[in-house]
Amino acid sequence: MESIYNYTEEQLKEYWISKGEKGFRASQTIEWLYRHQIHSFDEITNMKQTAIEYLKNDFSLESLKCVTHQKSKDGTQKFLFELKDGNLIETVLMHQEYGYSVCVTTEVGCNMDCQFCASGMKKKLRNLETSEIVLQVLMVSRLAEVRVSHVVIMGIGEPFDNYENVIRFMKIINHPLGLEIGARHITVSTCGLVPKIMEYAEFDLQVNLAISLHAPNNTLRNQIMPINKAYPIEEVIKAIKYYIDKTNRRVTIEYILLKGINDSIACADELATLLHGLNVYVNLIPYNEVVGKPYARSTKEDMVAFFDWLKKRRINVQLRKEQGSDIDAACGQLRSKHMN
Ligand code: SAH
Repeated sequence: MESIYNYTEEQLKEYWISKGEKGFRASQTIEWLYRHQIHSFDEITNMKQTAIEYLKNDFSLESLKCVTHQKSKDGTQKFLFELKDGNLIETVLMHQEYGYSVCVTTEVGCNMDCQFCASGMKKKLRNLETSEIVLQVLMVSRLAEVRVSHVVIMGIGEPFDNYENVIRFMKIINHPLGLEIGARHITVSTCGLVPKIMEYAEFDLQVNLAISLHAPNNTLRNQIMPINKAYPIEEVIKAIKYYIDKTNRRVTIEYILLKGINDSIACADELATLLHGLNVYVNLIPYNEVVGKPYARSTKEDMVAFFDWLKKRRINVQLRKEQGSDIDAACGQLRSKHMN
């Protein structure tokens, strides 16, 4: 049976109409699933029995099985979930000054093969279904007993390589009668799948877009991010421009600082030139070292010098602080030890 958490309001509306019911049943359904968070369709009190029977016959309300739940000293929590087919995925909850933020996984494994990243060490087995992404947010909020205010689509996987399901996920968690996570509180991050960035420019929710750039030129980017061979840096920049023109929204540029690779002042200067005049915000990320990968974190001095250089060149920039490193929940470290 199909999970009901796969369905956006539009899809639920179609479903109800196909059953000869009124379209407003769709928003009622959303309320029961995400506000009341029912465990059985019998808990629904404002539908007639025949409607409830339709739901029972057609949909599953099954959630994810939580295998482990770890808490870091800084308050970050990591969850390992088991999917129906036995695959394991990880989800992270972070406590920020502004609220609780969840980092969701979008694929089992990842095919992008970024050289510094732990996720790519396991090839993609499959896309996550919309419901499997939605349920990560729902389950984390239940298990940690918090109201989730922010979502970042930055766990394992390339969200734009599972585009349709990720778009549906965003619509569902944003729904005002459901989890009501503000579009501006949702961020999707891509390694630069150009055609999808262009397509995403037409998406009508005001969701934030982040681009994992990590290098200021093709030579360097080819070396650490193989996807750059398919979509070189000038095309990524062109797509970002197109997106900004269409949406009028600022784009986040993610840049991991790798010692001796992309952290020189020459790189900072080249990056500043590349981004000059674009409505972007650079997020400098301290690298989390991965066992089996030849990369190291830049020194504090080099990170600060890189930051200062961008500032001097009038680029909007921040140096991100890390969380959850003691439970392997830090950015880019998600990789289940249970699978080995
Ligand atoms: N595939 C998407 C989203 C998942 S990765 C993307 O590439 O954007 C989320 C972010 O974590 C990316 O910017 C990625 O490059 C970064 N990342 C990967 N490994 C990391 C590591 N070991 N330390 C810090 N950041 C890392």
